[in-house]
Amino acid sequence: MSRFEEILEKSRKEIIEPEEALYLFQITGDEEKAEELWKTARFVREQSRGNIFRWSAGIARVLRCNLRPLCLYCPYWRENGLKPLSIDEILKGVAYIQQHGIREFHLSGGTTLGSEGHDVLHIVQAIREAGFDDLAIQVNCGAAMSLETLKELKRLGVFQVSSVFETVNPSVFRRTKPGDDLEAKRQFAQRIGEAGLELHTGIMAGLSPEESKYRDYVDFIFQVRQYKHLRRVYVTKFTPFRGIPMEGYPACSAWEAARLIAVIRLVLRDIDISSAAGWSPHDYPTPQMAGTGNTVGGIHINRTPGWKKGAPEDGFQYQDDMEFRNTMEALTKQYQEMGFTILP
Ligand code: SF4
Repeated sequence: MSRFEEILEKSRKEIIEPEEALYLFQITGDEEKAEELWKTARFVREQSRGNIFRWSAGIARVLRCNLRPLCLYCPYWRENGLKPLSIDEILKGVAYIQQHGIREFHLSGGTTLGSEGHDVLHIVQAIREAGFDDLAIQVNCGAAMSLETLKELKRLGVFQVSSVFETVNPSVFRRTKPGDDLEAKRQFAQRIGEAGLELHTGIMAGLSPEESKYRDYVDFIFQVRQYKHLRRVYVTKFTPFRGIPMEGYPACSAWEAARLIAVIRLVLRDIDISSAAGWSPHDYPTPQMAGTGNTVGGIHINRTPGWKKGAPEDGFQYQDDMEFRNTMEALTKQYQEMGFTILP
């Protein structure tokens, strides 16, 4: 048996070691080996999390990002005059999600250092005051929330809060996120646990330079594994959006990001792994092929972008300066073809 086969065989039963994870990254540049890796990751997902899939949804741009400078890969908040969604617009989004039978959604927005999180707390209070009591809420709005705010969010039925690192390589972090603070994110991740909330985090595939990227992926996986309250990880894909400072950098391929998802699955075996920004429905391989699950994002609500609107055939609709993207029908078909049902 080759070393590659031995590691995959081991990973079907138990967690692999950091050096084994690194080896998997190094050897699966080869297409055939990448397919074997994904197959093993799907097996581990099925064994550890079963085949129950549930819908989720998201409302983006609920808060402006006031980090300066903005993260170098970030396309948001670069346009003049773009406003975050108002409370009324957020409530309209929540009603749309509820009407479509989805019971869990996230609120995502930017960071205002020193805000203590009062801004996002105000939004969650307004959602509950409007009578949306039975929807579970996840919050992804930067690392500025105090312990008191986190406890209050929990009291209001928020179940999960994000501290998204994107990378744990300090020099890559400093270079690509100069307005942000890695140590503050680490402390925030701990604070989320102290408040009794679940932790969500994320990594951006393709952010690190060629020479350190595989080691950086492995370091991320094994560092976030130490948080006992970690429940969800997303993998975004670096995309050189027009106008961002990293516009000249190469886009991350779906192949590389899918290999990252698969190796995460072999280590964080019972965690809910998902794909996020940068993935397109036309990407091959798909995140599901690499072992994501078991939450499926069916609705995404945003401010209407000033640059390019999405096509109706990709699920985009526009109303009153709001973008509603509903891919529930297409995803239902996609999952049915794999033999899965998605529950509310
Ligand atoms: S914190 Fe988020 S919204 Fe703010 S600049 Fe960075 S990526 Fe963009």
